[in-house]
Amino acid sequence: MNTSILIVGSYEFLNALPSTIHEQASFSLEIVTSVNEARSLLRIRVPDILLVQASIDNSEKFCQWSKEQLALTSPYCILLEDRPLGDRHSCTGNVEQTAAILENVADAYVDFWWLNGNETQLKATNRLILAHIQVGQRDRQKYQELIDKNNTLSAIALADPLTQLSNRRAMERDLPAQILESRHKNPLSLLMLDVDCFKTINDTYGHLFGDRVLQLLSHRLKHNLRSQDLVFRYGGEEFVIILNNTDCQQALFIADRLRRQVGEQIFTLDSDLCLTVTISIGVACLQSLDDRGGITLLTRADNCLLNAKARGRNCVMGCTEQLCETKPLAIAI
Ligand code: GH3
Ligand code: MG
Ligand code: MG
Repeated sequence: MNTSILIVGSYEFLNALPSTIHEQASFSLEIVTSVNEARSLLRIRVPDILLVQASIDNSEKFCQWSKEQLALTSPYCILLEDRPLGDRHSCTGNVEQTAAILENVADAYVDFWWLNGNETQLKATNRLILAHIQVGQRDRQKYQELIDKNNTLSAIALADPLTQLSNRRAMERDLPAQILESRHKNPLSLLMLDVDCFKTINDTYGHLFGDRVLQLLSHRLKHNLRSQDLVFRYGGEEFVIILNNTDCQQALFIADRLRRQVGEQIFTLDSDLCLTVTISIGVACLQSLDDRGGITLLTRADNCLLNAKARGRNCVMGCTEQLCETKPLAIAI
């Protein structure tokens, strides 16, 4: 792993750093001479390690800022002390100064006697700096591993293993976010979709074939929608589709197109078995009185789906904005 190090200090300071830092091929170094430049850079990209010269203006405040602002992603911060003892503020002794810095400012604090140290002191200091860089590398590596594991767990928690679609938990997370995004700006529609007589498919051909139908159906749905449309397996043989930037009429049109794309093309389960599968869909559009969590929107779509089933299946039902449940609109039977 390449380690990125941002050095915040003068060029003299840079030159005084252990030569290993300059020569190590696995280190990528960047240098800035003021904390303002460093702040701007950190807003764009965060290095693994910060090496900060204590005597530059606001060095401690900068280290503190990097911890607070960047929180978990903050780099491992090593403050190199090059101020004479008398110039250090809040100093009642070297040990207390070190404790205060480690408590509030930086991850590591090293006395850096590069101007007036003797050979032995310089060697020991250089070794200590490199040791702290190693600690920083281990810290960043552990952090990266944690992020990777977290991403894997999130992906598992939000995916449906059978169909590879996002699951209901993902829908419960995404629907409020989509509603928030669309409010007062763009229309938003939601489709609730259910496979017709799926129990009969299971009972006739077995559950494994039923599973295959769900996989093929998911694939067909996904490939007949726009990339920004969100498809979720809501549970069993039910799916929810969120169509952003889509008004009621467009949603009804899309739902009916899906209904035909599923029902009019056979599903090939194996060389001996081809099936016709039909779906019913309830369509609802976001209205100004809908709650932010999407419960009323989902309920309306579900009611429309029930109406579609009652109409005999292989059907799309929607509701007009004003006459939601009292005057359903049948698109196709
Ligand atoms: P309707 O047209 O009214 O929706 O009838 P239906 O038979 O599709 O609905 P019902 O609720 O009676 O049956 C749904 C079936 O879906 C029952 C359940 O065992 C089956 N099912 C749910 N999840 C899975 C799954 O992951 N794989 C398989 N193969 N079957 C499933
Ligand atoms: Mg069903
Ligand atoms: Mg069902």
